[in-house]
This record gives sequence, structure tokens and C-alpha cells, in this order.
Amino acid sequence: MLTVPMAIDHVDVLIVGAGLSGIGAAVHLRRNCPDKTYAVLEARGAIGGTWDLFRYPGIRSDSDMYTLGYSFKPWTAAKAIADGDSIRDYVNDTAREYGVDEHIRFHHKVVRAEWDSGTARWTVHAHRADTAEDVVLTCDFLFTCSGYYRYDEGYTPQLPGVERYTGRLVHPQHWPADLDHTGKRVVVIGSGATAVTLVPAMARQAAHVTMLQRSPTYVISLPSRDPLADALRRRLPAKAAYPIVRWKNVLLGVANFQLSRRAPGVVKALLRRAAKGKLPVGYDVDRHFSPRYDPWDQRLCVVPDGDLFAAVKSGRAAVVTDTIDTFTEHGLRLASGEELPADVVVTATGLNLLAFGGMTLSVDGADVDLADTVAYKGMMLSGVPNFAMTIGYTNASWTLKADLVATYVCRLLRHLDATGQQIVTPLAPDTADLEPIIDLKSGYVLRAVDQLPKQGPAAPWRLHQNYPRDVLLMRHGRLTDEGVRFSRATAPTTPATPVA
Ligand SMILES: Cc1cc2nc3c(=O)[nH]c(=O)nc-3n(C[C@H](O)[C@H](O)[C@H](O)COP(=O)(O)OP(=O)(O)OC[C@H]3O[C@@H](n4cnc5c(N)ncnc54)[C@H](O)[C@@H]3O)c2cc1C
Repeated sequence: MLTVPMAIDHVDVLIVGAGLSGIGAAVHLRRNCPDKTYAVLEARGAIGGTWDLFRYPGIRSDSDMYTLGYSFKPWTAAKAIADGDSIRDYVNDTAREYGVDEHIRFHHKVVRAEWDSGTARWTVHAHRADTAEDVVLTCDFLFTCSGYYRYDEGYTPQLPGVERYTGRLVHPQHWPADLDHTGKRVVVIGSGATAVTLVPAMARQAAHVTMLQRSPTYVISLPSRDPLADALRRRLPAKAAYPIVRWKNVLLGVANFQLSRRAPGVVKALLRRAAKGKLPVGYDVDRHFSPRYDPWDQRLCVVPDGDLFAAVKSGRAAVVTDTIDTFTEHGLRLASGEELPADVVVTATGLNLLAFGGMTLSVDGADVDLADTVAYKGMMLSGVPNFAMTIGYTNASWTLKADLVATYVCRLLRHLDATGQQIVTPLAPDTADLEPIIDLKSGYVLRAVDQLPKQGPAAPWRLHQNYPRDVLLMRHGRLTDEGVRFSRATAPTTPATPVA
């Protein structure tokens, strides 16, 4: 049991995380519920989350910024697929522009939140990394924007013989600032978004870069600039052009996803043909770029202006599809017997999924096991009152969903005030027909899926991964349905010290 100090700060809404989602949530709250007090607790010492943490060469978005950007703040830079620094600046600029930065408490890692129906409040326990203090706040509504993976450690599988290796071994999540790969032989292990970003970026200075993959991923080349955005930028103000390009990209994304689901063979063939056209004549496209799974069983990897294919075509980079037999002193030996000499090995092997940055929840003294909960509209949990979470789309830009979740939370808060209610509690559907909340078959999802909430077979418990449909449901749909109960506190609230 954690101890509670005498004077406790209270806010109406407590946001956990100052990444893309947390800053967006705070702005939505400020604009739509200006009378609510709020604070943002952030474990790290900076704004930006993912876009501040990852510093590997070439770090960039793999979705377009017209949909990864906020609905309320046009993306005005020239590149649609943007580098990490630009995205970090965009999030920081947003926080400053809307005065959200003044409400962030850095170095506050939330470790536990306890709901009490008697007072209709959360008691939230955070640990301060800078002072080693434990801090307690209370809030009426807890809004988690804490991403989906462990910040302190990326995923590295068992690497046979790695202890013998004398070169530099690096995980992209913790890129060493002193690493100079100029003129070095580099092997990047992995085939996901990070690997396909790193390979062309490192190939610019390295002697040679090999992307070593166990099996291929779908890789699609997209222009780094959006021709429609470029044309509209010259004719219209940013506020008018932005939603047009955003909706164009949303609809293209939905069409692409639907086609992949309905005619996977057609999409497979199109992706193969597009890759073939950008690779050297006679290249073994089937071995290195034709996955066994269907498109969108895992996220497609985007490469801007075909940079990965160009690096392969130029000979500065190569793709090897094989498994590691063992690390050697100076590189790797593969199952085929091939040796890959390497001065630097990068393990682009993924993330460790982690809900709420490891924070635990209890409701009226009972611990919440996330695996026993069912997501309501993909943003609340059955049996957990006055609580929302931000989990973006798996088949489209994260922020599209994050914006809708924040909008919905604001609608809920206004509804509670307007109806004199204090508590909103999602209910589980009356069925055992439940599925994992994330429907991707990627390794990082499969490793953790048993610990995550479930989704139900139909609305409002079903995630449709479809933005236009969610706009109707979350921006315009009913707040009262069979999946949710509104109520009041069962005992009077204890006064606490309010904070601005
Ligand atoms: C390398 C990489 C590239 C990506 N590219 C794309 C892309 O192109 N398009 C796309 O749609 N998605 C992409 N994603 C997914 C990406 O994470 C989201 O786009 C988006 O950045 C998530 O924002 P977020 O604020 O929800 O989470 P995060 O960026 O993870 O930020 C969460 C914040 O919450 C803080 N936090 C977590 N737990 C706690 C706690 N318990 N207490 C206090 N603070 C806490 C963290 O310190 C962090 O600052 C990418 C992910 C990675 C790793």
C-alpha cells in the first residue's frame, strides 16, 4: 500500500504522458472544456514521447504528416513524410502555442491509480525520477496518453554467440550519440519500419549496410512530398488546404486497407510489381520482398521516394534473408554458411509492448487485470470508471484516433456536467466472443497480446480501424448506449487543494 501525504493536489483531469497524444489531449481539453483544471504528468524530462526518444539515423514518420498531425494544427512543412526533429518541433510548438507546456510536470512517472466510487475520484501515485520523491494527486478523470511500449528497453531476441562479438552492438531505441558509422560495415537485423529507415540513412556514410531479415516485409515507396498539398499550399491558406489533404489521405488509406482485406492477392501482386520496378534487373524480389502473410496482417513499411530500393540498386546496401547461426568475433555467420563481417550491428528487432507505461490500476480496492477488461469504443475499459486511454490506429496514422478519443472525452465531461452525473463506467458486453484489442500479427503484438484488454464482436466494443466510421461514432454518435452507465458518487467528496 502506498502512503498518502497530507496536502494533495487535485485536478479535474489528469493526463498521463506528454507525447503527441498527451499534448493533443491537453489542447482539446483547453479548447472544448476551458473551465476544467488539468495537469500532464510526464515520466521523462521532455515533450514528444516517441519523437524525442528515438534518435537513430534517418528517424522519420512512416505515415504522412497530414494525418499524423493534429486536426487543429495544420502541418505546413514541405515534406509529407517528416523527420523526427520536425515532428518533435511540431509537438513542442503546439504545447507552447496553446499554453499546455505550463501544465506539464516532468519526471513524474505514474505508477499506480486507485479509483474510489465513494468520492468519485482517482488517487494517482507518481514517482519523481529527479528528486526520488513519491507524489500523490487526485483527479476526477484519468486520461492516459502513455503510448504502447516500454521506454527503458527495446526488444532484443536471443542472439546466439553475441558475447564473442567485438564490434559495436546497438539497439535503435538507445542510439549512442558517439557512434560514427562513417566507412564502417554495418549489419541491421530486422525488417520492420525501423530497419527500412536505418538502412538507406546509414548507407550514405557507411562502407556498406546489410539488412538481415528472417523473413520479408511489404515495403511500399511513397513520394516524400504530397503533390496535392504542394498545389493547394500555393492557392489556399494552410487552414483551408490542410483538411482537404488530410481527408484525401484518409480516404486513400481506407481504400488501400479495404482492398487489401478483400483482394489480398491483387494487392500482393501490385506491391511486388512496384518493388520489382525499383530494384536491379534480375533481383530476387520473391525471396527478399514478398512476405508469406497478407498485406496489413502487419503494418506496411513505407519508404519515401523508394530510398531503400535505391540504396540496394546502388550497391551501397543489400538485403539478406536468412537466419543467424551465430555471432562471430567480427560479425555473423548465417544458417546458409554465409559470413557477414560487421563493425556495427544494429538490432532493429522491435519494441516491448507495455500498457500505460507499467502503471497499475485499482477500482474500489480491487486490482484491475487488463486482460479481463473489454475496450469500449477503443478508448475506455469495462469496469474502470472515469478513465480513457489513447491507442491509435494500426492501419492509419495514430493521431487520427488520438484526436477522436480526446474529442470524445471532452464530450463526456460536458455531458457529466450537463446531466449532474459524476461517473461514467463502461460495461462489458454480454458475450464470451472476445478478441485481442490489436489485430496485427506482428511479433511485438503477439508477444504481449495475452496481457492486453479485449474487444467485443460489435459496436460499441468493436474497433473498426476505420476513421470515417469513427468520426460518426465518436464525434457525432450518442454518448449513452448499452455499453455505459452514468452515476453519482456514493459518499461526499473530501475537499483537496485545487491547482491551476
Ligand atoms: C520509431 C517509431 C516510429 C513511428 N512512426 C509512426 C508513424 O509514422 N505513424 C504513426 O501513426 N505512428 C507511428 N509510430 C507510433 C507512435 O508511437 C505514435 O505515432 C505516436 O508518437 C504515439 O504518441 P503517444 O503520445 O500516444 O505515445 P508516445 O510517443 O509513446 O508518448 C508517450 C509519453 O507518455 C510517457 N509515459 C508513458 N508512461 C507513463 C507513465 N506511467 N507516467 C508518466 N508518463 C508516462 C512517455 O514518457 C512518453 O513521453 C511510431 C512509433 C515508433 C516507435
